[in-house]
Parts: sequence; structure tokens; C-alpha cells
Amino acid sequence: MNIILLGAPFSGKGTLARNMVNEYNLVQISTGDLFRENIKNQTEIGLEAKSYIDKGNLVPDDVTIKMLSDRIAQDDCQNGFILDGFPRSIEQAVALSKIANIDIVILLDVPYSTIEQRVEGRRVCTGCGEIYNTMTYSKTECEKCGSALYQRDDDKLETVRHRLEVYDQITAPLIDFYADILLKVQGADSPLDTFEQVKTLIESRKN
Ligand code: AMP
Repeated sequence: MNIILLGAPFSGKGTLARNMVNEYNLVQISTGDLFRENIKNQTEIGLEAKSYIDKGNLVPDDVTIKMLSDRIAQDDCQNGFILDGFPRSIEQAVALSKIANIDIVILLDVPYSTIEQRVEGRRVCTGCGEIYNTMTYSKTECEKCGSALYQRDDDKLETVRHRLEVYDQITAPLIDFYADILLKVQGADSPLDTFEQVKTLIESRKN
């Protein structure tokens, strides 16, 4: 089963993807994580991507599509994957259709007012990438691996507002593009609640 998670920044795609990986035995592919890994390792891709990411803009398609195709071609993806953060434009979706079949697209629907509330509190673990929110977790170290938590540069409110505009203009048209295989879930409540909705929808689709 190959799945795309679609939704605005902070809609909870990363958390949902992690839950789904365990449940459905899928590989999670996050283009955002791949870029951050490249930035950390100071690769050519990382150096090119950083200036776009810091401003809240999309990294150009040629770089992104190549990075994603290389990842999908790896052995561990052959049993199914879940894409978190790709495609983010019609051009990327068209490129993806040439290299993989997509079974389901899950749209995480979260009001922008809720997204803005989430922004200030989000913290990410420097070690394992686990995501926290200061509203529900007050420690500064990761519960799982003990590494320090940090706020991503592109998680500042100003940048996020710009990212939401980019989402509206460039990514949201994918909702129509994938209308035939789209499942919509409400992502404003708890991650567990969102995950339960997804499981129910996927189950009902099988029947
Ligand atoms: P994310 O972690 O998915 O929120 O992605 C962080 C940033 O990485 C985005 O704001 C973009 O700058 C860049 N990025 C991630 N995925 C893509 C993509 N599919 N196309 C272009 N840029 C991307």
C-alpha cells in the first residue's frame, strides 16, 4: 500500500505517519526530514535547499523530485511507503505518477487558527526527531532518547504564515488532483483521534 499524507504545515502529518508506519508496516518518507538530514551533513542538496527552507519556500522541483525518486527506488520501499510532505505541487504529483502507484491520499484537515496555536509550542528532538508540544510536554529533553529538544527555524510564526500561503497556492490544488482516492480526516483533535479516524476509513475502504 502506497499512501500520501496531504495537509498544511502543522496539520500533524509527521505524527500520523509515525503511527501508520507501525500499524501498516510501511516506510515513512518525509522530504522535509531528508532535506534536514542533507543540511546536517552539508551535502550539495542540503546547501541548495537550506535557503529555501529557512524562508518557508518550496525547494525547486528538480532537486526535490530527484531526491524523492532515489529514496523510493531503495529496497525497503518496495513493500509500501507513506509520503509525508511530498508531493507539494501538481508538477511533483505528475512526476510521482511516473515512478509509483498511489493507493490512498489522506487529507488532514486542520483550521489555520489551530495551526497558528500549535506553531509556537512545537519542539523537535535533535536525536530521534520525535515531535513534542510545550502545551503538553514541558521538559527540554526527549522522553524517548534523552536528547535536547529544539524549535526549527522554519517553525517561527512569521515563516509559518508564509508557508500557509504557499500551501494554499501551490499544494492545495492537489486536493482536486487526487479527488478519486482522497480520504479526508479532521486533524484538529488529538493525534490518537486522528489515527483512529484513519484506521476506520482504511478499514471501510477494504470492505
Ligand atoms: P516539512 O518538514 O515537510 O514541513 O518540510 C520543511 C521544508 O522543506 C518545507 O517548508 C520546504 O521548504 C521543504 N520541502 C519539504 N518537502 C518539500 C517538497 N515536496 N517540495 C518542495 N520543498 C519541500
